[in-house]
Amino acid sequence: MEQFEHVACTVCGCVCDDLRVTVEEGRISKCEGACRLAEPWFLSQGDHRPPVALIEGQPVSLDTAVVRAADILRAASSPLIYGLSRSSTDGQRAAVALGERIGATIDTTASLCHAPSVVALQEVGEVTCTLGEVKNRADLVIFWGSNPVASHPRHFERYALLPEGRFIPGGRADRTLVVADVKPTPTTEIADIFLPIEPGSDFEVLTTLRCLVRGIPVKAASSSGAPLAMLEDLAERMKTCRYGIIFFGLGLSMTGLGHHNVAALLLLVGDLNNYTRFCARKMRIPGDVTGADMVLAWQTGYPFSVNFARGYPRYNPDEFSAQGMLEREEVDACLLVGSEGVARFSEKALAYLRRLPIIALDYPPVESLIVPTIRFTTAVYGIHRPGTAYRMDGVPIPLRSFLHTAYPSDCDVLNMIVDRCMEDRSLYKLMEVK
Ligand code: SF4
Repeated sequence: MEQFEHVACTVCGCVCDDLRVTVEEGRISKCEGACRLAEPWFLSQGDHRPPVALIEGQPVSLDTAVVRAADILRAASSPLIYGLSRSSTDGQRAAVALGERIGATIDTTASLCHAPSVVALQEVGEVTCTLGEVKNRADLVIFWGSNPVASHPRHFERYALLPEGRFIPGGRADRTLVVADVKPTPTTEIADIFLPIEPGSDFEVLTTLRCLVRGIPVKAASSSGAPLAMLEDLAERMKTCRYGIIFFGLGLSMTGLGHHNVAALLLLVGDLNNYTRFCARKMRIPGDVTGADMVLAWQTGYPFSVNFARGYPRYNPDEFSAQGMLEREEVDACLLVGSEGVARFSEKALAYLRRLPIIALDYPPVESLIVPTIRFTTAVYGIHRPGTAYRMDGVPIPLRSFLHTAYPSDCDVLNMIVDRCMEDRSLYKLMEVK
């Protein structure tokens, strides 16, 4: 029996790095500190052992599958690489390298989650902080359009609400928790203040709050679901707290014109810094979606929806988002680095994707809405392979390996495909005419 301390979990964007894992006879037998989402994931590692590669459902060798995958990508004039949020820095870098070599469009699951938030911060800026600052300083904690009790079970315990911090010695007793949402949730049940919002009215509520913070009179009661008296009280609390934070989720960014909602929130937070210290942070869901943003940004200059067809990176979320390109039938082959993200595609995009040659790189167990032409089974970062995952606040967390596997990592497979493509010089001719 072996025990491993300080193991990081990549099931959600909290990337908790305080787990203790017990390994017996090559399997994880115990995972202390894991929440109800993480524990079954850790304990099921090793339950499924699909072949390393399948072509049209038939087991083949890794090399055979790599050759076929390179052939598919070489024949494509508009390949798409999508996913990346369950990978790690090495895999994400390898995916960008492949995308650049073959003139592909590369997009991440962020384009169907917090893309509007990224666009908003590009427009109006963002006042940010680490989760460590929140733990040590925040006395007013607001969640907007997010239900962390369900989606990030240890967020309260580790960062936002319960821990004692350097300037928050009383922990929970020293914090006020406000939750703004369109309906009661398990998170609103434990809030000190629940701010009800009419669906589709976030922008109005945030703009009203901004007026109140600036001292601009608001005469009429808002029809946004949030009573004016509550908004006046919240504006006063925001101005007079010592350190405030708003965590916002997909309930804000994926409703209506999400980037305008998020921009209104970021502008409100900016205004509050005239009175006190206030920050905003996205509640990221998959374990390393923040890492995918980071790697694409430092490799290409842009965080998602990047196109290499002209040999240099171009960014345009409307034009190069995976879903948009699939709906417009502008893709002729697709490589998925983690295929579970396709579940968020529209029916139209999914229907077209199913008609394409698809190469999928997936962790076991493989559960997906699509049947790929070629499927590679890859090792799991943080279980079988070391790596790096970026926590939702952009802090890189090292991932350990503590189980053996014969599966290659997604980085290994992607590098093999790049090498195979590079062997064939005709690829360069292909790129010249794109
Ligand atoms: S809160 Fe998220 S990162 Fe932490 S243990 Fe649970 S699933 Fe893993």
